[in-house]
Amino acid sequence: MTDLVRVRFAPSPTGALHVGGARTAIYNWAFARRTGGVFVLRIDDTDPGRSMQANTAQILRSLAWLGLDWDEGPEVGGPFGPYFQTERTAHYTAALELMKANGSAYPCFCSTAELGAKRSALRAGKTTADGVAAGYDRTCRGLDPAIVAARLAAGEPHVWRLAVPEHRGDIVVTDAVRGETVFPAGAMDDYVLVRGDGTPTYNFATVVDDADMEITHVIRGDDHLSNTPRQILVYEALGRPVPVFAHLSMIWGADGKKLSKRHGATSVEAFRDEGYLAEALLNYLALLGWSLDGETTIIPAEVLKTSFSLERISKNPAIFDFDKLEWLNSVYIRDMEAEALAALMFPLLEAAGLAPSGDLEARPTWYRLLASLAGERLRRLTEVVPMVRYLFDDEVTIEPVAAEKTLGVEGAALTLAAAAQALATLKEWTPEVIEATLRSLPEVLRTKPKQVFQVVRVAVSGSMVSLPLFESIALLGREQTLSRLAAAETIAQTTAGPAGPDAA
Ligand code: GLU
Repeated sequence: MTDLVRVRFAPSPTGALHVGGARTAIYNWAFARRTGGVFVLRIDDTDPGRSMQANTAQILRSLAWLGLDWDEGPEVGGPFGPYFQTERTAHYTAALELMKANGSAYPCFCSTAELGAKRSALRAGKTTADGVAAGYDRTCRGLDPAIVAARLAAGEPHVWRLAVPEHRGDIVVTDAVRGETVFPAGAMDDYVLVRGDGTPTYNFATVVDDADMEITHVIRGDDHLSNTPRQILVYEALGRPVPVFAHLSMIWGADGKKLSKRHGATSVEAFRDEGYLAEALLNYLALLGWSLDGETTIIPAEVLKTSFSLERISKNPAIFDFDKLEWLNSVYIRDMEAEALAALMFPLLEAAGLAPSGDLEARPTWYRLLASLAGERLRRLTEVVPMVRYLFDDEVTIEPVAAEKTLGVEGAALTLAAAAQALATLKEWTPEVIEATLRSLPEVLRTKPKQVFQVVRVAVSGSMVSLPLFESIALLGREQTLSRLAAAETIAQTTAGPAGPDAA
């Protein structure tokens, strides 16, 4: 084994990539990048039948969307392939042969029914006479080699078990995050390495692959901590070096329970669909159990790649804070170039039926201005649709409350007429010229600027809250603006004076 760091992310494609898995992938990737090592992606597809291909495709898509790249694995290949466990049978066979030869694996002919009975008996007595607290009493471990050979030759069904060494003593798992955990060897089961159908179990396949792929650091969720002593025994049986382990604590919801759908989105693609930027989600997940200095919250991928360390991973469970993620997302959206943001927003506007296809190419400047205005206010990209709808619709629907508070007030009709008149003759249609024009009105009308702007805002946007007024008018265009002012003037004329609640 070389000094080169080699890490892997090894998802089982039994479903979508969730944030917990994504965080594990990010930590492995960042550690490889920081150390100039190799990030391997391996697909643990040993659980057949569960639409493996579709799930694998989704996992790869999610990782790529997050901005992660892998040096070896599906799509890119590499010198330690194949990178799908179902294609690595030869490796498991070779490893088992080695273990058979050195006596660390033995065949077990006990039937499922027999095993069930033994387990109940063991559970009742807790431990066997020799102190083995285990699910298997090692009946087949002591069989005469000649008898074993005959039974194998006769084709009798069997599994292959690990022969836990007699005098191994405690198994100490040294973990880069949690320090040492001691597992009494007596508690170790002669667990199954290879099933009756010839397929390897997780604990066996993982070690064979990690050893053959020369993985130096195993960074994974701490739901695998209890598997680690079992895996260490296989490394030892194979005569291979044990990697450094780093087990990541679970991710909890605010209620202290394991993060699940009850708390909100959990899959990476669900966050994407809810309008989160990949850069923001990456940053957020990186901070979920790791910190740069305990303070810095904005840590883009480039910084992560140069600063990630195992030492700063926290032992404590991480609490998923949706509000913080949303805040981070708003920061990243605000920092985006208008053109790039427009490109991200456009498909949403198109899908909502607001923007016709090709409109972005047809009016790039218009969309850049829209993006720069919306970008200041969005927490999630998907909020853009309701936020800018009034700039696309053919006419605006005025919110009843807004109508009552502004158009139903005395002088509103006059204000709208004056605004329309002033805007009708403008030579230039830019936010600056529009602003200068509307700012001259309050004095003429002997009213407060705020009152004028609010009435005009409701007329053009339908609401008392909108994107900045002068820019909105610029984006809306003269024709639309004038027709909206006229429509609002009609409403104002009919409701002015002691306006009732049915002003709209
Ligand atoms: N395929 C396993 C999982 O998804 C990998 C665990 C490991 O990293 O060893 O849980």
